[in-house]
Amino acid sequence: MAVEYLCKICRGVLNVKTSIILAASKVNSSKRGLILLNPEIGNYTTTTHPTFKIEEGAEYIYTCPICHSQLNSGKYPHLVRILMIDEDGKEFNIYFSGIAGEKCTYKIRGTTIEKKGPDAELYGKYFDVPEEDRKYL
Ligand SMILES: [Zn+2]
Repeated sequence: MAVEYLCKICRGVLNVKTSIILAASKVNSSKRGLILLNPEIGNYTTTTHPTFKIEEGAEYIYTCPICHSQLNSGKYPHLVRILMIDEDGKEFNIYFSGIAGEKCTYKIRGTTIEKKGPDAELYGKYFDVPEEDRKYL
């Protein structure tokens, strides 16, 4: 079984061939388009059509191209959440930054948190849970 990425709302599969496909729209702007993300965690290469250029430092709202639900986290400002199912069928929450150019990914299952990317400390504090509170997660 290959790794699959799913929409957190409709659980539709977001990865096709070698990319995760999402719809993105720039905050406070009419600019919107499709964006292809690399499914390899820690690889921040993105692809868009030449008419839809991603602007470094701008924040984007990501939506599921299947059900059109917003994927930006309601809980953690500036982060976007999708689901990942690994080769063993285990499910993880994947968070990445909605701000273009910020290279950070958080892979979370229960109390296990993997932080990836050169900017991982930017939002790392969201997931730093004091040891005594972990049992409530
Ligand atoms: Zn969806």
